[in-house]
Amino acid sequence: MSPMNINNWIECEPDNFLVISGPCGAETRDQVLKTADQLAKTGKIRVFRSGVWKPRTRPGGFEGAGTEALEWLKEVKEKTGLKIIVEVATSNHVEQCLESGIDMVWIGARTTSNPFSVQEIASALKGIDIPVFVKNPLNPDLNLWIGAIERIYAAGIRKIAAVHRGFFPVEKTRFRNIPKWEIAIELKSKFHELPIICDPSHMAGDTALIEELAQKALDLNMNGLMIESHFDPANALCDAKQQVTPAQLESILNRLEHRVETIDDKHFQDVLNEIRGQIDCIDFEILELLSQRSRLSHKIGIEKFNRNIAVLQLERWEKMQTNRLELAKKLGLSDSFVKNILQLVHKESIALQTDIMKQL
Ligand code: PEP
Ligand code: MN
Repeated sequence: MSPMNINNWIECEPDNFLVISGPCGAETRDQVLKTADQLAKTGKIRVFRSGVWKPRTRPGGFEGAGTEALEWLKEVKEKTGLKIIVEVATSNHVEQCLESGIDMVWIGARTTSNPFSVQEIASALKGIDIPVFVKNPLNPDLNLWIGAIERIYAAGIRKIAAVHRGFFPVEKTRFRNIPKWEIAIELKSKFHELPIICDPSHMAGDTALIEELAQKALDLNMNGLMIESHFDPANALCDAKQQVTPAQLESILNRLEHRVETIDDKHFQDVLNEIRGQIDCIDFEILELLSQRSRLSHKIGIEKFNRNIAVLQLERWEKMQTNRLELAKKLGLSDSFVKNILQLVHKESIALQTDIMKQL
């Protein structure tokens, strides 16, 4: 896949960064036009977003104003000059958007999770030169996300962007949808040209967390942000807690620090190379030590087998965690980081020992 560089299909000025904003859902003509007018006046956004058909988890909620809203969006385009992006989930949505001159479409997380729906949308878009933004699926399955992007690409679309909006949490967390930056990074490393946009609104579920997530996206050199806004968030009919006012959006955007990918400064490159060299050495040492550790797991596995002792020794595992976490704390390492590593290392050790039991 070689999608087109984002700078070739949309102006990402200033800062080489795309900002998309607008309400979660189109509610009334007045709400859409007021929000768009206030956003346009900030001069900070290029694209106005709005859900027209809202996918609701349970029936009975606000499902968007539907077809009628496409007329309001046309008006936004005429009055503000902003490009318009709308969520599509069926071929009928695609056809209606195309008839109404909608500039771009996005595929929502629930739809990305369903290859039949993505294929239906891709087929409806065949031969049409319109940018398509593909949100990540609800569950952290990189292949499902890539599969959706490939279906759109196979329909001939080259103006494609991925949108990282976080993944549904199994347990309650401070985020509505957990950001999994490593998955977005893996996607980027598989497809260097694919632009990745971050949607901190749906990750956060709460306006208080949006700025921190948006900054993280910039730190990771993502290509843009999609942030929900409403002229009167308190009375929004959907996602009220996560929508900011256009004025709040402007202050958030003003506070964000933009990073550059590289600079042509010889001294800086030398410093970077020196530190990277040290990191490489440490990583190689860690791998050597892990290999030594695995050999010891193997050895202890044989001892346990000879005495017919269970692989898992709960008391030992609990003690190990306690003393390693105490040390980690003294060393200034975060509890969750070390816990995750210990769990992985222990899981591998158990797997190695279980294998021995099977073999001997
Ligand atoms: C939305 O953007 O309003 C939306 C429904 O998003 P998601 O598909 O990410 O839940
Ligand atoms: Mn929403």
